[in-house]
This record gives sequence, C-alpha cells and structure tokens, in this order.
Amino acid sequence: MTLNSSGRKRPNILITGTPGTGKTTTAAALAEVTELRHINVGDFANEENLTNGWDDTFDCYYINEDLVCDALENLMEEGGNIVDHHACDFFPECCFDCVVVLQTNSSVLHERFTKRYSYQLILTFLFVCISSIALLNMSRLFDCPRGYSDHKLATNSECQIFQVLLDKVKENYPDDILVILRSDFLEDITKNVETLTSWISNLSPAV
Ligand code: ADP
Ligand code: MN
Repeated sequence: MTLNSSGRKRPNILITGTPGTGKTTTAAALAEVTELRHINVGDFANEENLTNGWDDTFDCYYINEDLVCDALENLMEEGGNIVDHHACDFFPECCFDCVVVLQTNSSVLHERFTKRYSYQLILTFLFVCISSIALLNMSRLFDCPRGYSDHKLATNSECQIFQVLLDKVKENYPDDILVILRSDFLEDITKNVETLTSWISNLSPAV
C-alpha cells in the first residue's frame, strides 16, 4: 500500500466495524503509539453539536454526516488521523489511505455486551442511589452493561453475521486499502496495533 497522490505527509486511517468490535480501544492504543490523532466520530459530533437528535431505536444520536465531513475537512487534508466510526460511507474515498475493518465472532461479541463486570454493578448501585430515573433503567443496565437495547443487540449480531458493513466498505473503498482484522481477544488488539504501527512506520519514517 502506498500513500495516494493527495500530498498528505501522514496517513489517514479509518477504523470501522460493528459496535463492540473494539474500534475505540484499538484506535486509542494506535494513536498512543503512533501519535496520530484519534477522532471518535460519535464523540466529535456530540461535542461539536453536529447531531440531528436522538435515535430511540438505536440509543444514539443521529450524526449529521455532511456537517461532520465539513468540520473534519481541514484535518483530513492535513493527514495523520485515525477515524473511529461504525459507518464507513460518508467520507469520500480519497480521505483514507487505509480502511481497517474489525471483526469479532458474533458469540464473543454478544458475550462482550452482556458480560457483568463488578465495577459496572457498583456504578449501577451508586447511580440508583443518586437518581430515581436510574431506577427505571436498572433492569436494562443489569442485562446489558452498555445499556444496549435487545433490538440493537439483535441488529448488531445480524450486521455481523451478514457482513453488511464489510459489503459497504467494499462498495466505498478500493480493495488495496482494505485491511480486515480479527478482534476476538485482548491479544488481538496488541497484535493489530503492532501490524498497523509497522504499516504506518513504513509509510512515514518520522512516526
Ligand atoms: P467499539 O468502539 O467498536 O464499540 P470498544 O473499543 O468500545 O468497541 O470496546 C467495547 C468493549 O469490548 C470494551 O469493554 C473493550 O474493552 C472490549 N473489547 C474490545 N476489543 C476487544 C478484544 N479484542 N478482546 C476483548 N475485549 C475487547
Ligand atoms: Mn467506540
């Protein structure tokens, strides 16, 4: 893989995958090692108020894709970004030098969502103490630590199984910048960060 003729000194990388596959964990770790800029698109859109209201079905904000693209234009032209987002079809093809699709076995993914961690139970308890509203949500939090609805879980699993996202990536980006990486276990994160770091170092020796 080589940098395209865009003139960027450092590469732009998209890390995509269905929710829970480890995009944010991987992107944050990669950013730390490479000193590239981690852009979590959902957080960015929320911070900059580039959203179109709340999506009750999927428990997240609708992102105003055009506004997000405009807001990120200069940074993307400059290069050196790790863009972390579950959707892959609203950035133009020329934005990225590498598109990473993380994939997790669907039963591992389901377990990841529903696993109970003691610290999450403690947080839930504190939350219940300080907010009566939390009482209404408690059963959902116990069932699903990330607060994902059954509908979202089901849809995420289906997405994973039918590889909807991968098909979309293939529609939007050329094969030669596409990298599919497994993200089933913690060791995979380390391995993936190493793989991507060495790819980035080969492209830009300064990193
Ligand atoms: P995403 O950004 O794709 O929604 P996150 O990075 O937020 O996913 O990870 C979701 C949860 O799964 C976190 O608790 C994280 O620690 C865990 N996780 C992510 N990737 C892995 C992995 N490869 N192995 C084990 N746990 C993982
Ligand atoms: Mn994330």
